[in-house]
Amino acid sequence: MVCTKSGSCRTGWSGRLGARERRQKVAIANRCRPNLPLSTTNLRERTNSGRLSRFRPLERRGLDEAGLASAGRFNLMTAESVLHLAEIFCSRQGEGELAGTRSVFVRATGCNLRCWFCDTPYTSWEPKGDEVDLATVVGEIESYDCHHVVLTGGEPLLQPGIVPLSRTLRERGYHITVETAGTIDRPVEADLMSISPKLSNAAPHAENHWDIRHERDRFVPETVRRLVSDYPFQLKFVIDQTPDIDEVRRWLQHFPMVPADRVWLMPQGRTTEELARRGVWLEPLARSLGYHFCPRRHIEWYGNVRGT
Ligand code: SF4
Repeated sequence: MVCTKSGSCRTGWSGRLGARERRQKVAIANRCRPNLPLSTTNLRERTNSGRLSRFRPLERRGLDEAGLASAGRFNLMTAESVLHLAEIFCSRQGEGELAGTRSVFVRATGCNLRCWFCDTPYTSWEPKGDEVDLATVVGEIESYDCHHVVLTGGEPLLQPGIVPLSRTLRERGYHITVETAGTIDRPVEADLMSISPKLSNAAPHAENHWDIRHERDRFVPETVRRLVSDYPFQLKFVIDQTPDIDEVRRWLQHFPMVPADRVWLMPQGRTTEELARRGVWLEPLARSLGYHFCPRRHIEWYGNVRGT
């Protein structure tokens, strides 16, 4: 198949469904959202939050936000046949060695950390999302006619269903990037393990218990060791201030097998102005140490908005 989309591909469906597929999708939507009129138009619509309208809201399954907030403990996560997703969309990768590559992003909801600067709080601090069966996820990915798939979050490796999803994508010949903080280990298929370890600079404020959990859970050396040994990988660190660089260097001393050219330093920031301000000193510093500078191009291109 030939891609029919231009740079606006990140907004939705290819719209090239056969009559039978359309009927099936209408049936699924009608089961999940009984108040919706029977129309394929509704299937292409997203809510303001970017939710795919035929996904089944988690709230309807009795999985409340408190349950998601303690990710790793909620029972529905044990099912391998479903995933809890915040969104699926097609956009361009903004970070790391594949920056600029058109990709389908499958964003899992739920995270075991709570970084104060998290740019996807709807997957961590206030997790939102839908329960989606594996076949629907694969069908959605295929509808974009795009070779690269990024499994991201939140923390995608919290969910057992990410493993069969990755295996299905492998069988179908996709290039798979997994974006993880490197604290959870699962036998997932990946062509690029994109690890973004969290430093002490990510710790949330002390007025809630998450500062303690964050410090306890953010560094799992045996998991990082396995991931960098068994996959092509990149390491992306978020840098807020210059002393963070010393922490990166201390962190890397635990993993002497990691060459400097697999390390990317990203400025902390959610706006182009914040990123540019830190980029002024971070870019030359990163290069002087043999690391890459990672400018977070998606914020430059689209702003910090969902679906990009
Ligand atoms: S690990 Fe990533 S998704 Fe989780 S809270 Fe930190 S920045 Fe957000």
